[in-house]
Amino acid sequence: MYERYPGQNPGQDMGDMSGRGGDCPDDYPGGSGQSSGSQNRRGRSAAATTGWAAAGRPISLGDTTRRAASVNCGLHGESPAMKIADLKIHILQSPLAQPFAFSQGWVGRRSATLLEMVTDDGTVGWGEAFAQGLEPPQIAAAAIEHALKPVIMGANPLDIEVLWHRMYHATRDYGRKGSVVAAMSAVDIALWDIAGKAYGKPVHQLLGGAFRDRVQCYATGFYRISGHGEAARLGEEALAHYEAGFRAMKVKLGYGVRDDMQVMNEVRRALGAREVQLMVDTNHGYGVAEALQLGRDLEQYDLRWYEEPVAPEDYAGYREMREKLSMPIAGGENEHTLFGFRELIGQRCVDVAQPDLGSVGGITACRHVVTLAHAHGVQVNPHVWGSAIAQAASLQMIAAVPVAHHNVFPQQPIFEYDRSSHPFRQHLVQQPLEQRDGWLEIPTRPGLGVEVDRTVLERYRM
Ligand SMILES: [Mg+2]
Repeated sequence: MYERYPGQNPGQDMGDMSGRGGDCPDDYPGGSGQSSGSQNRRGRSAAATTGWAAAGRPISLGDTTRRAASVNCGLHGESPAMKIADLKIHILQSPLAQPFAFSQGWVGRRSATLLEMVTDDGTVGWGEAFAQGLEPPQIAAAAIEHALKPVIMGANPLDIEVLWHRMYHATRDYGRKGSVVAAMSAVDIALWDIAGKAYGKPVHQLLGGAFRDRVQCYATGFYRISGHGEAARLGEEALAHYEAGFRAMKVKLGYGVRDDMQVMNEVRRALGAREVQLMVDTNHGYGVAEALQLGRDLEQYDLRWYEEPVAPEDYAGYREMREKLSMPIAGGENEHTLFGFRELIGQRCVDVAQPDLGSVGGITACRHVVTLAHAHGVQVNPHVWGSAIAQAASLQMIAAVPVAHHNVFPQQPIFEYDRSSHPFRQHLVQQPLEQRDGWLEIPTRPGLGVEVDRTVLERYRM
């Protein structure tokens, strides 16, 4: 079974929780209550909801949300619905034995902003806010504690779409991008974990089902230790990824076009005739002129994609890349929500959109982006660079992402498998990712399908 918060009993009185924060739209500060009124008149029962899901019948999230909302407002004498009772933030950090660089700076430690959401019946859901190597994990933690917690405490965690909009509206004037949306992402992922546990289904089932039961992985690595002149070592690294089973790899570039090409030439030479799909990622290390120069030099390598060639806000630069280069252009790990991706996709900047679940606004926002992308013929391939919780959420999401261009042999999304050093990623959960021959099975356990090892939380707590 899934995890329950220690000492929490089903139906436990939540004390000062009652009436605070609002468990139906009527109670939400500023809420009109109009929609909840019509929902109330549907008159579904909590028991009916539970039984319906437990019976394994197809789940429409919109429908379940309405059912949950109807129960939540306490009409018709039903038993109370599940409520969010507590949010616990765990900031983990560990120094790296060997610091490494990507084009934007040196990474000396790995961090994680984890969220543990506890409901009044003791169900625990886990979420994670993206914390790349240079991003202080305390920012998203503060946003959860001070901005988001007050507006979702006491709410029904099954009202996922409603709560996403409630959080977005509450933070719009100072949020919309960056760590505030990463904080929303952590909350949203935890809500989906709880929903999966409540219905006894993996998250991908709640998203409409899995298009695939396994996904190919690509190795992300090739970070720099000294900076320049590491082509020979990175060629050896490519062989190590191949020997570990990977048939797709992403090479980090952005350290100067000349050095970049030395690395790419050596990686390709080291791999020889081995069949490996290559991608490159400059982490927006260049302006248009250098990005184009690198792109033209790279055209000989038949890349699957060229990632973040220019700054995330340089939409015109992205368009120029797409118009002048032959390889697909990818980007989006530093873009946020449907509104941000409206520009990236609507302005035809990318062939491959790469929302990061811990940064885009969670699973809910990624689902919005998938819909937008497919209306524009753009493939969604989530970016993944977090701990085991972000990995688990990403794996559930990628199972539910349709291909952008159907044919009998369509190009499927592939899973970013970070091979760089991370002291606690594998130990954090009881079910760490273990690729086999370069592939991962999609877990079918309820929710995200992971149980957190609390001793690891304590060992790496900041
Ligand atoms: Mg990237």
